[in-house]
Amino acid sequence: MDLNKLTIKQAHQGLKKKEFSAVELTESVLNRIRKRNPEINAYLTITDELALSQARRVDKRITNKEEIGVLEGIPVAIKDIILVDGIRATAGSKILDNYIAPYDATAIKKLKKAGAVIVGKTNQDEFGMGASGENSAFGSTKNPHDLERVTGGSSSGSAAAVADNQAIYALGSDTGGSSRQPASFCGIVGLKPTYGRISRYGLIAFASSLDTIGILAKTSEDIEIVFNAIKGKDEKDATSVNTDDEIRNSKFEIRNLQIGVPKEYFIEGINPQVEKIVRKAIGQYEEMGAKIIEVSLPHAEYALACYYIIQPAEASTNLSRYDGIKYGLSEKGKDLLEGYLKTKQKGFGHEVRRRIMIGTYVLSSGYYDAYYLKAQKIRTLIKQDFDKVFEKVDVLMTPTAPTPAFKIGEKATDPVSMYLSDIYTASLNLAGLPGVSIPIGKIGKLPVGLQIIGQQFDDEKILKIAKLYENSIL
Ligand code: GLN
Repeated sequence: MDLNKLTIKQAHQGLKKKEFSAVELTESVLNRIRKRNPEINAYLTITDELALSQARRVDKRITNKEEIGVLEGIPVAIKDIILVDGIRATAGSKILDNYIAPYDATAIKKLKKAGAVIVGKTNQDEFGMGASGENSAFGSTKNPHDLERVTGGSSSGSAAAVADNQAIYALGSDTGGSSRQPASFCGIVGLKPTYGRISRYGLIAFASSLDTIGILAKTSEDIEIVFNAIKGKDEKDATSVNTDDEIRNSKFEIRNLQIGVPKEYFIEGINPQVEKIVRKAIGQYEEMGAKIIEVSLPHAEYALACYYIIQPAEASTNLSRYDGIKYGLSEKGKDLLEGYLKTKQKGFGHEVRRRIMIGTYVLSSGYYDAYYLKAQKIRTLIKQDFDKVFEKVDVLMTPTAPTPAFKIGEKATDPVSMYLSDIYTASLNLAGLPGVSIPIGKIGKLPVGLQIIGQQFDDEKILKIAKLYENSIL
């Protein structure tokens, strides 16, 4: 049996029944990483010692006949933008090449408490800026379904690790689609939670009003298990919330479910086979008894432009901290300014520099009103569009991305066509809503994802709806 191919649920049952030990499970994942990482490039750091010591601890508890939790002894990969105490955290950037995290992110603290086994830190687009993985300072990650293609991004390594059985599940981040889009390109499940439901403490900041920690796994059931372990209010993140007692409608019946399909999402430019597969999956929900309703999100066409103003604006301020003094790379100059310039020039890649320049421009006096302020107003209109449709429907269903995985290099010199990859995902970050991408079919060998969008705090509900599809195809 290839233990590394198991889901969380299956691995947990195997551990409980003593069919294998946590060390055996961990070794099987580590062996797969050793074999495949030189080609796939999913991992930047492999933490085998940490993993094996965590696994041994779990085995001891099993030998002592203690009851083990569902995540205990299960190997997980962590995106390099999330801090794990004592382990290098580069966020995919040369500027943090030598940075060792001095503490655990809250999500990591919770995973450790739940007995997780951390096998390594995964590759990603630099600071989360990208939709292909090609903007990593440490080389592209290859899509396990077709090695000439991208994994999507920015959580490129996390998605490839799970899809290639180099981890049982992974944490990613999602600021504009970075967990959902690579999940869809790699044929796995990816969750972007409601803003605030998972603490951002210890997630290296990219665009703080949009940033979330995402979860990538083989099934929605596994995502639910991880979400339950890491969600919740955290004193260290003032924007985090506890909503367990507010969860609406997590009890529902499929025959009462109203699914909205936004007409603006099926636009020119969408790959016709993606559209066909997505409509077929929505049709399956209809067969299960749900009602499908066409809805309109009139400001959807502005979402991408709005995202590509607010996000670089926030990034330009967040990234000003990398000055060669407080963290990471430090280049000396004849004075302070020259030191700053040299450090940033050497440490930041092209895409990061582009976003810092765009962000600085849209915030500069004279342009602030025309760009940043206007984008904030449009952000409100986008949120209101969603509020309005959710008066009529329970959830929305859309493609996750307009195309399947593209070829490595295909869009690398055309940033605007790369940005178009985020067209269906970025609006959820602008509105703070939860979304999950589930695999629903393939074009040749390339997976296609369906995005299920919920109302604020309906994370549990969209996962239940995702599970219905999973169970219906078993
Ligand atoms: N593709 C988006 C971007 O480049 C996704 C970012 C993200 O979610 N981290 O901004």
